Amino acid sequence: MNYRHAYHAGNHADVLKHTVMARVLEHLKKKDKPFRVIDAHAGIGLYDLTGTEAGKTGEWEGGIAKMAEAFAPEVEALLAPYRAVIAALNPDGALKVYPGSPELALRLMRRGDRMIANELHPQDAITLERHYLHDPRVDVTSMDAETCLKAKLPPPERRGLILIDPPYELKTEAEKTVRMLAHAVRRFAQGVCLVWYPLKAGETAETVLSGIKGLGVPGTLKIELRVREAFSAGGLAGSGLAILNTPWTLDAELRLLLPALATRLGIGTWGESSVEWLVSPT
Ligand code: SAM
Repeated sequence: MNYRHAYHAGNHADVLKHTVMARVLEHLKKKDKPFRVIDAHAGIGLYDLTGTEAGKTGEWEGGIAKMAEAFAPEVEALLAPYRAVIAALNPDGALKVYPGSPELALRLMRRGDRMIANELHPQDAITLERHYLHDPRVDVTSMDAETCLKAKLPPPERRGLILIDPPYELKTEAEKTVRMLAHAVRRFAQGVCLVWYPLKAGETAETVLSGIKGLGVPGTLKIELRVREAFSAGGLAGSGLAILNTPWTLDAELRLLLPALATRLGIGTWGESSVEWLVSPT
């Protein structure tokens, strides 16, 4: 395992994933009934943007650093929960700390909601565990994501969000993503699933999307944000998320949010977004 999220935290892909995740959590909070977040690839939870790893790539400068200026009020209303978490972590106003997916979830969850934060990398799992040792809402596990979903689904609350966010370092990871998602859907049919995938040269996105479409879950939304052209020697040109069991009206919110993010995060004349149903709601 070579991938360490500390090099990439706060980049354009994180901004997309986390702004959408925050929206999903807001939708889940519309009902009083508690829910559970199952973060299958959790990372370490908190990232130091002034640290060595973030400094080496500077990726956050093409992501969260570009978000400082306010958008139109209707876009800001959608970003408010995400912005509130970042503001709370950076009380003096300067951007130094960026929340990973478990930190974002915890800060938006209520007292009765629960989270499983799973991370396979042994050292990162220890860091994650240290962060959340004193929060009774979190259960940190260190398993392969597929094993974790097999062990932990369905959640007792029967409501919740599953985040599948693999590094796609291995060629087999796109197929594995679809396999674990298929299992998750069988065990927890009503759960909202967020599946992240990279947009770059190669077939990863196509494999993930055709597999997800094949599951045929009504209300499966595909959203994508491209910041530049994809070319074979290049890295991440953008990213996408498939959302299964998309909460009611989230598609309309994302049709407002995504073009704004694309304009802001696009490089040069680039900046494209799309929001479309892979499987329409019933
Ligand atoms: N979800 C995190 C966030 O948004 O802040 C970022 C996760 S990062 C993209 C992917 C993480 O998955 C890495 O921390 C990596 O160590 C972990 N990982 C890699 N292979 C895994 C596996 N098979 N099972 C669980 N975690 C894995």
